[in-house]
Amino acid sequence: MSQSLIKKVRKLSEAVGLDLVLINEQSGHYQLKGGPMLVNWYPFSANRTAYVKSTKKGVKQATPEQVVKMAFSAPEVQAEKVTRNSGKAKRAKARLLKKCPFCHWCNCPLTAETATLEHIIPLKRGGLDHHNNMTLACEKCNHGRGHDMPELNKEADHA
Ligand SMILES: [Zn+2]
Repeated sequence: MSQSLIKKVRKLSEAVGLDLVLINEQSGHYQLKGGPMLVNWYPFSANRTAYVKSTKKGVKQATPEQVVKMAFSAPEVQAEKVTRNSGKAKRAKARLLKKCPFCHWCNCPLTAETATLEHIIPLKRGGLDHHNNMTLACEKCNHGRGHDMPELNKEADHA
């Protein structure tokens, strides 16, 4: 069932120039890259959920068509993290860049283009959406932490 879903998503994504990448074989975490939105997809989970990066809620039992479509349009749940793109978030990012233009986790140098604003203590774990709890991370580390992805979080808790 899941394998045929994956095949279908791969086919659909190739047709529109997206890349379906297996991120974590154990958790069955796939990413759909190359579109305006990065989609995290868990075709082997019970809910077969797809998430647009930076959103907590996903589309359950997502069909291949939905998964591919999500890479091009943010679902309504995106509103939950609207602060990320707000003027407040932009100012926070600029301020942090000025203070220390390095990734909080791997120390690589950052620019306005490569820096992503990130919560030191994820909101999911009770961290505040406040500048005291914000830092900069490179795209790679931001992905790696995966705190916006509940199904990855479970793994992290057991690690
Ligand atoms: Zn980093």
